[in-house]
Amino acid sequence: MDDFTGRVAQAADLVKGATRLVAFTGAGISTDSGISDFRSPGGVWDRYRIVTFQEFLSSREARVEYWSMKRDLFREMKHAVPNRAHRALADLERAGRLRCLITQNIDGLHQDGGSREVIELHGTNRKAHCLKCGKTWPIEEIQALLEAGNLDPACDACGSLVKPATISFGQSMPEGELMRASRFAAGSDVLLMIGSSLQVEPAASIPREAHRAGAKLIFINRTETPWDHLATVVFREGAGEVLEAIVGMAGRGLSSGQGEDHHR
Ligand code: ZN
Repeated sequence: MDDFTGRVAQAADLVKGATRLVAFTGAGISTDSGISDFRSPGGVWDRYRIVTFQEFLSSREARVEYWSMKRDLFREMKHAVPNRAHRALADLERAGRLRCLITQNIDGLHQDGGSREVIELHGTNRKAHCLKCGKTWPIEEIQALLEAGNLDPACDACGSLVKPATISFGQSMPEGELMRASRFAAGSDVLLMIGSSLQVEPAASIPREAHRAGAKLIFINRTETPWDHLATVVFREGAGEVLEAIVGMAGRGLSSGQGEDHHR
């Protein structure tokens, strides 16, 4: 048995034996779908400077800069489809084996891939809302305005600022989502971490909380993280390849009596 197969077997055993499996994902799971990690060179984030929430609120110039970046990002995201890794996680959930999926991503690809119980720690790029009255729009409507040259869209109900339903730098995380995520992490017995370099707090504390509560950790990430030493199994291989292998190998133990196995 080579090293990879050995690690897959080890991870599959953990997944099979888990009763409270939780997944935690970051940008790395979506790069195979063509969405650039904000740290990767040449990505959207490389071409624009980061506009903080405070700047967004106080300066029209900053908002124009921010919306130009979003316009380019939306063009990129429009054609993105879920990849093997997203689908493997949705399979786990359908088999009744995944309690919840916590993500740092704002791309909505987990839901597109079939996942239902998703906690989006950084919000979503699929919607925009008015910061004052709360009116929301599908992002396509805002994108049409941006493409038409309106780079500082205002709410058509109250005239206030419109912003994507994401958490910007300098904006506090949604308390409720963060608390739910912490609860699931602390209540898990196995946590699968995929595609995060675990450098953005407080999101990165999720696997640590799971570990502190006694959960076993499986890490799948291209690069090293500061918390690799806490993990039972670490993969540097591609998320799609690894997850398909783990779910495939754990598969025989995955039928939950919900009549799912005749579909595969
Ligand atoms: Zn409004």
